[in-house]
Amino acid sequence: MKILLAEDSSSNQLIIKSYIEKAGHEIIIANNGKEAVDLFKSENPDLVLMDVTMPVMDGIEATKAIRELTKLDLGWVPIIFLSGLSNSEDIAHGIDVGGDDYLIKPVDSIVLKAKLQAMQRIAEMRHQLNKANHKLKAMAVVDGLTEIANRRFFDEVYMKELKRSFRNKNELSLILCDIDHFKLFNDNYGHQAGDDCLKSVASTMVKTLKRPSDFVARYGGEEFVFVLPNTDLDGAKKVAESINKAIESESISHAHSLVSNHLTLSCGVASVKPQLNQDISLIARNLLESADKALYTAKEKGRNQVVTAK
Ligand code: GH3
Ligand code: MG
Ligand code: MG
Ligand code: MG
Repeated sequence: MKILLAEDSSSNQLIIKSYIEKAGHEIIIANNGKEAVDLFKSENPDLVLMDVTMPVMDGIEATKAIRELTKLDLGWVPIIFLSGLSNSEDIAHGIDVGGDDYLIKPVDSIVLKAKLQAMQRIAEMRHQLNKANHKLKAMAVVDGLTEIANRRFFDEVYMKELKRSFRNKNELSLILCDIDHFKLFNDNYGHQAGDDCLKSVASTMVKTLKRPSDFVARYGGEEFVFVLPNTDLDGAKKVAESINKAIESESISHAHSLVSNHLTLSCGVASVKPQLNQDISLIARNLLESADKALYTAKEKGRNQVVTAK
């Protein structure tokens, strides 16, 4: 571990330095609390040993400052107080401001080594936990098969973009796309080929996104949804047509389709203009419903086409 020692007494510095180096760790020394905070920022230590009584800035203030910094996501780093102050209140105060342990000087080398080992174990566990959390968070918004955004992520982005559009007085459009006769595709080529086809359609769709704020998600089974902020109905219709064209030019064979010999999509497009003092959830629901109705009309009119909501 890289250990930061904040200690103003040079004789204590020497003693603790020798303990730490004997235990196989690297040491950086700060002569007061202020230096400790600066070194904490520049050196990224794995652990801090903190004296309490020091000039310029004491260990209590330095610990508070370091805890403020780690709040801003530099990650948790254990802080152990090493102090001559041995009252119960001193110990409680040290822990209260953010210390993880409190050792009374003079410190026994074996005890210090054991404490470092315990803290290293906790730090490692925290690290693993953070990694797992990161992974879980990413998994929660990504569709397992196609690896594009999932329905839950869509819900989140859709509401956020709708609110933002209304605030900026912009229109927002939705496109719902559904693969034509996909059941027949599965029946003919098998479920695995169906899965591969969905992956390929999703990746083609992602490639059709032009603006950074455009968004696509797997809405369910063989349905996909696009959120297009700052886009009116005409613009969204053009985007939907370009999606259909992109899928068409993939030329995925679908011999059993009743509308083409290639894989095709039907799309429903709907837009909403900014409205004041309206129920945003209701508007969101209505817009989705309009896009769904337009999609249904596209299916009814013979599939492989784009229909815009009236
Ligand atoms: P339509 O043109 O009316 O949309 O016909 P369709 O056959 O596409 O529609 P339907 O809703 O009858 O069937 C959807 C099919 O999509 C049925 C289902 O097996 C298939 N499907 C949904 N999700 C998946 C999936 O994750 N993998 C595979 N392989 N198939 C899926
Ligand atoms: Mg001191
Ligand atoms: Mg469907
Ligand atoms: Mg379908």
